[in-house]
Amino acid sequence: MCGIVAYIGHKPALPILLEGLKRLEYRGYDSAGVATLDDDDLRTCRSVGRVRVLEDRLSRSGGSRGTIGIAHTRWATHGAVTESNAHPHTDDADRGHGIAIIHNGIIENYATIRTWLQDKGHTFTSETDTEVLAHLIGELYAGDLEKAVQSALREVTGAYAIAVICREEPDTLVVARKGSPLMVGVGKDEYIVASDSSAIVAHTTQAFTLEDYNVAKLTRDSFRTTTVDNVLLTPQIRELEVDLEQIELGG
Ligand code: GLU
Repeated sequence: MCGIVAYIGHKPALPILLEGLKRLEYRGYDSAGVATLDDDDLRTCRSVGRVRVLEDRLSRSGGSRGTIGIAHTRWATHGAVTESNAHPHTDDADRGHGIAIIHNGIIENYATIRTWLQDKGHTFTSETDTEVLAHLIGELYAGDLEKAVQSALREVTGAYAIAVICREEPDTLVVARKGSPLMVGVGKDEYIVASDSSAIVAHTTQAFTLEDYNVAKLTRDSFRTTTVDNVLLTPQIRELEVDLEQIELGG
């Protein structure tokens, strides 16, 4: 297993994401990565090995002031344990929309979709199934990230928990799930999404679990949940059980 953390709010995202990744370290992983958006400045950083290595690398590169971001620990299933296979993955550098995605799970029909995208001129830089999803969302993007994610997910089979951001929509975080766990923490004008509650409880105790084939679009002060077919849902927000020791001791 491995982990996902994503944040949108008014605080700097990077410290929250890194702290969240540390709390998920117990799940096991081989590499880690993060992407943040500061207006239209999409920054990604990835590394093989511990979250600590990623953190060092980020502090040398000057970090980010962005208040939206996604972070990942990978357990490789498709492609070796290398920096270029680590998440986040992005759509095409030249013709893309600055879409960055993290993913836990396996896209089973990635090879077919990859060939289809290559025929359309997409160039891939990793061996992962996940990068196919990044390019597919980019291919389907027409100014609405939520729609593009829904459309892309209707084409894939397999398991996923994903979080997606886009340079062209710096106020939107889209997350979705099928078969891999994902939970949305609801704070005051902020949301923190994670694979499990251990990365959420330090920030808020209000949360809802995404069900299979559900997509959540989060802005700083609102959210909406739909199915991949865009049917509107009303998630049940519940109070998380808080283990104070867990909050105080950190990861
Ligand atoms: N299948 C993806 C990969 O190999 C995601 C693995 C994971 O769940 O971390 O990169």
